[in-house]
Amino acid sequence: MSGILAVLEQRDGKLHKMSLEALAAAQEFGGEMGLPVFAALLGAEVESLSGYKLEKVHVLEHELLKEYTADGYAIALRQLIEKHGPKFVLFPHTYQVRDFAPKLATSLGRVLVSDVVGHRVENGTLVLVRQLFQGKINADVRFEGEAPYFASIQAGAFRADKLEAGTAVVEKMTPALTAAQIPTKPLELFRESARAVDLSAAEIIVSVGRGIREAENIPVVQKLAEALGAELAASRPICDNGWLPMERQVGSSGQTVAPKMYVAVGISGAIQHLVGMKGAKIIVAINKDPEAPIFEVADYGILGDLFQVVPAIVEELKK
Ligand SMILES: Cc1cc2nc3c(=O)[nH]c(=O)nc-3n(C[C@H](O)[C@H](O)[C@H](O)COP(=O)(O)OP(=O)(O)OC[C@H]3O[C@@H](n4cnc5c(N)ncnc54)[C@H](O)[C@@H]3O)c2cc1C
Repeated sequence: MSGILAVLEQRDGKLHKMSLEALAAAQEFGGEMGLPVFAALLGAEVESLSGYKLEKVHVLEHELLKEYTADGYAIALRQLIEKHGPKFVLFPHTYQVRDFAPKLATSLGRVLVSDVVGHRVENGTLVLVRQLFQGKINADVRFEGEAPYFASIQAGAFRADKLEAGTAVVEKMTPALTAAQIPTKPLELFRESARAVDLSAAEIIVSVGRGIREAENIPVVQKLAEALGAELAASRPICDNGWLPMERQVGSSGQTVAPKMYVAVGISGAIQHLVGMKGAKIIVAINKDPEAPIFEVADYGILGDLFQVVPAIVEELKK
C-alpha cells in the first residue's frame, strides 16, 4: 500500500461527520506528498464512500466487529496494516478512536500523534501541528523511526466540503478474530437528548464565552440578544459549567450554525468553536485581547471590555 490509510468511523452504515474531515486530510496530505489514499471501515460498508477519489476502500467484516470493542478494532486493523503496510494511518479524533487507536499504535511499537489541527510538508517530510495547554501553544511534530505513522485529526481542522470526488474499489477482508481475544463487552450507547433549540435556523446569534466570568453575568449578553432579536448561544465551557443548556453550544461537539450575523462575546476562537460558526455571513467579535484568534475570522472586531462594550451597544439599539 505504502500510501495513506484513513480509518473511518461508521455507525449503522452512516459515516461519523469527522470521518469525512479525516478523509479530506488524507487526500490533502496525499496530494502534497504524492501518496495514494486508502480508506478502511470496520463492521459494515458505507455505500457513499465509493464516490470519493480513493485507491481502495478496505472493509473489515467479522461477526465480532459488528459491535465496537477496542480489542476487536485494534486486532483487526493491525492485521490490515501488517498486510498492506501503509506509511501513514489517519483517524478522526473521535471518542471511539481515543479508545482504541493508542492500543493499536502501541501494539505495533509506535505512538499516536493525537489532536492534529494543521500540517505542512517540508522537503517531502510531513510536519503535523497539534495544540498544547488548551490551545495556548501550537507544537510541530515530525515522525521519526520506521512507518507506519499514526495520527488523529481534530474536528474542524480539515474541511469535508473540500473532499475530491471520484471512484473507489471496495475490497473486503475477514480478519482472524476469536471471542477469547475480546474480553470487553459493549454496553448500551450513550444517546444525546433531542434538541429543543434549533440554532441552525436562527438569523442572528449572540454567543457568549468564558470572558463572561460567571453565570450571574449572563444577563449582560442576554440583553444584547433580546435587543437584536437574536438567539443566545455559547462556547463549550459555558455549557459545561451549566450556565446555559448544552443545546445552546456552538462548535464541533455542539451545533453548526450559519446565521446572517454571529456576535461572539468573550470567545477566544478555538478551532472547535470556529468550525461551528465560520459559515456565518457576518461575524462580529467583542474581545479584550487583540491577539484572540476570533479576530482572524471576524468581519467586524471590537477590542474592549465586554462589560463596557455590550451595555453601550444595547443602549444604542434601544434608542
Ligand atoms: C474534543 C473537543 C471538542 C470541543 N468542542 C467544542 C465546541 O463544540 N464548542 C466550543 O466552543 N468549544 C469546544 N471545545 C473547547 C475549545 O477547545 C475551547 O476550549 C473553547 O471554545 C474556549 O471557549 P471560550 O472561547 O469561551 O474560552 P476562552 O478560550 O477561555 O476565551 C475567553 C475569551 O474571552 C476574552 N475575555 C476575557 N475577559 C473579557 C472581557 N472582560 N471582555 C472581553 N473579552 C474578554 C479573552 O480574551 C478570551 O479570548 C472543544 C474541545 C475539545 C478538545
